[in-house]
Amino acid sequence: MPIPSTANLILRASCRDGRLKEALQILLAIKDTLINSCTNLLLLQICIARNGLLQAYRRYGFPQEAFKLFHQMQRTGIEPNQFTFATILPACAKLRNLAQGMDIHQSIIERGFLSEVVVENALLDMYAKCGSIQKARDLFDIMSEKNVVSWNTMIAGYAQCGALDEALRLVKEMPRPDVISWSAMVAGYSQNGLFENALEAFKEMHLAGLKPNTTTFASILPACAKMGDLEVGMDIHQRIIECGFSSDVVVASALVDMYAKCGSIGKARELFDKMLERDVVSWTAMIAGYAQNGFNEKALETFKQMQLAGVKPNPTTFASILPACAKMGALEQGMDIHQSIIESGFYSNVVVASAVVDMYAKCGSIHKARELFDEIPQRNVISWNALIAGYAQNGFCSDALKIFELIKHSGTNPNDVTFACVLLACTYAGLVEEGCKYFNGMSEFHCIMPTIDHYVCMADLLGRAGYLEETFNFIIKMPVKPEVVVWTCLLDACRPHNNIRLGAFAAKLLFEMYPDNAATYVLLSNMYVEVGRWGDAQIVRSLMKDRGIKKIPGCSWIEDHKMIHVFCAGDRSHPQTQEIYEKLESLSWEMKVAGYFPDSTHVLNDVEEEEKEFFVCHHSEKLAIAFGLLNTPPRTTIRIVKNLRVCVECHTATKFISNIVAREIVVRDVNRFHHFKQGKCSCGDYW
Ligand code: ZN
Ligand code: ZN
Repeated sequence: MPIPSTANLILRASCRDGRLKEALQILLAIKDTLINSCTNLLLLQICIARNGLLQAYRRYGFPQEAFKLFHQMQRTGIEPNQFTFATILPACAKLRNLAQGMDIHQSIIERGFLSEVVVENALLDMYAKCGSIQKARDLFDIMSEKNVVSWNTMIAGYAQCGALDEALRLVKEMPRPDVISWSAMVAGYSQNGLFENALEAFKEMHLAGLKPNTTTFASILPACAKMGDLEVGMDIHQRIIECGFSSDVVVASALVDMYAKCGSIGKARELFDKMLERDVVSWTAMIAGYAQNGFNEKALETFKQMQLAGVKPNPTTFASILPACAKMGALEQGMDIHQSIIESGFYSNVVVASAVVDMYAKCGSIHKARELFDEIPQRNVISWNALIAGYAQNGFCSDALKIFELIKHSGTNPNDVTFACVLLACTYAGLVEEGCKYFNGMSEFHCIMPTIDHYVCMADLLGRAGYLEETFNFIIKMPVKPEVVVWTCLLDACRPHNNIRLGAFAAKLLFEMYPDNAATYVLLSNMYVEVGRWGDAQIVRSLMKDRGIKKIPGCSWIEDHKMIHVFCAGDRSHPQTQEIYEKLESLSWEMKVAGYFPDSTHVLNDVEEEEKEFFVCHHSEKLAIAFGLLNTPPRTTIRIVKNLRVCVECHTATKFISNIVAREIVVRDVNRFHHFKQGKCSCGDYW
């Protein structure tokens, strides 16, 4: 720490040479000794000379410091000039401090600087950014001299508050709208979800003979991404190449994002690999792209590469990578990321904190999720939804409903997702009456119109509870077109209740709507098997075979030492295969002693009983459990994820295993969680 007098000398030299950034650095170093009157005097001299430090403060992101200096100037009796005002107003804009801005406006009037266009433009910008667009407009209308900056400030102001019609009117009125005017329109439409209009504005700009700049491209590409319009996106990519902007890091990152969001992940990666310079936005676009396209392992791998490249994640990166951990059930890696979030100080970001809660809940660690949820100071609807969904999926349905009651008193309004989570909780708990109450209350008390997701939940709720005729009537009366998933709910519900008539009807519709869906064939043939109609089951299976439709192979995975181990049914590829099968062998002996016999009803192959038993004994989840038992410390929880629904037999077997080995086994199947403990499952055998 230099003593003030030395610092003052350096400061004076830096400023004299116009090296403002260095001056600022020195200034920050001597911050605590700034009370030294000599320093103050010096600073003020510099301010008078060139408004230099004030500008430097603003440019380097210290609006608060700029204010302090401005007030100091006034207290010392130094008159601000038009440049001082043009410099301090953006600081008000940055801090969104309207009251301060209005005070300054008053000083400007008193000192007679209002006719200076540079001051007026700064005022327009301040009012627009502080959310007072009307005050900006009043001033704009009385301005004697307007330049292109004045027009563009107003256009951008309207476009950012979402008043796009007004913004467009100004563009049309403006003598010669330039690339900045049109770019503001493109950005405004894009940010407000009016993607078609964004494209229109982009085209009009082209027709006006204006060459888009990097900002225009960075605004139009997210519109293509959100629309999932790859074709338009590719056209724009072509124009970017023509304009010579492909190596611009902002544009290139937006391209990666566009290709990824349009599902063209290979192309996204190709561009990403070609980028000469990658910033946090580029890395995040790639990570989010992998996660959104279901390449969760790739997302995690890219996240690690980013860290190795020394690029620090931002809140968006964390909010993109956490869902990948959640989907993988990769708790260990998720916990590492949670730790990095704490270290980076982003835990105060509500989006990040909610994603952390969601990750723990989806990895089956619901108590930790709750603990963290309770610590979020400013919860929003996403945080609440994460917890409700977590409770519902983990089978703690009454907790889910209790939390929903708490929302009402929290000042947060539930949204459509909240209701979908609540209906899910009712479905898993078989609470038909409550579910209907929430469903009807949505539109009645909360003005939220049910979407297809809510209708699916209701069909599932009624169907699982055995109200099959009611489900059928509900579906045919739905005001939205019943999608494949709705009829699948009915078909699915018919199996345990052996209602062949309705089940076959739903299957017939499904075959017409989506003939390639293996699930329909499997569900229908299983249903025939249950009632002993082996001939019909065989017909369905032959049909499936003839049409070349393959059942999705069941697989389960488990994380160990931050590595994911994947198993398929009867898998023998794992290095520990020998031990795993031996473990299963000894377990099955212990299970038989405990009174368990494998139920092979669901094995549809025409094979001997013994062989059937072999098949069910080596379902993927059992292999993963055996691996877990071999590799994790005694008494710890084993966590498995399965890509399909857990079968009846494996469900029973896992209950026995949890008792024999005295461990909690958490299985997340495609629908929900099963927490197996002491011979029981949290789903109450209802799934
Ligand atoms: Zn199974
Ligand atoms: Zn269960």
